[in-house]
Amino acid sequence: MPELCINTQKSIGSIELRVIGHGWGFDIERILVSSCLLGQPVRYNGTDKPNEHADVLTRWAREERLIPFCPEVAVGFPTPRPPAEIVGNTQSSHIRSQGKDVLSGDARVLEKSGADVTHLYLKAADKTVALARQHGCSHAVLTDGSPSCGSSFIYDGTFSGTGVPGMGTTATALCNAGIHVWSQAQIAKLDAMLRTSA
Ligand code: SF4
Repeated sequence: MPELCINTQKSIGSIELRVIGHGWGFDIERILVSSCLLGQPVRYNGTDKPNEHADVLTRWAREERLIPFCPEVAVGFPTPRPPAEIVGNTQSSHIRSQGKDVLSGDARVLEKSGADVTHLYLKAADKTVALARQHGCSHAVLTDGSPSCGSSFIYDGTFSGTGVPGMGTTATALCNAGIHVWSQAQIAKLDAMLRTSA
């Protein structure tokens, strides 16, 4: 029986979330969630991403809805790791490209040093879609701003801390696969929707 344990002491008090799949039947809507929203210190800078909805996440864990996942760690990136941003291939698209442009080959994901890590971001997106399908996830709650997980904004490719509207590579791939992507700011909205449809 597969078992995933998340220690969420940092962001969700002293609660330990234990997500256990009972044969992975799809009788309840499962939600793929960025690991860093669940107290895992897997972000590029070695931190997690605290959020205001620990109560909802804890309840979703109790209901065995949660599928925690970090696309970047899953493909071998270390933590901490250099920051990366999406950069367009042409002069005119150099800034403000987004995940869809990476998926179509019109942009790359570069580390601040200029190292091209596009192939790993594409692999991370594929792995995440495969995992979401494997577990029958119809929704994903992802950390906004990330070149992988961003859903309402990402950074503009200049490494100047400038956010622009757009989606990351994994978030785009999930959307393309028909999975509804939400940011952490929308957790309460998704929760209300799930409760209404229950
Ligand atoms: S935002 Fe996504 S890729 Fe980045 S640490 Fe969190 S789960 Fe991993």
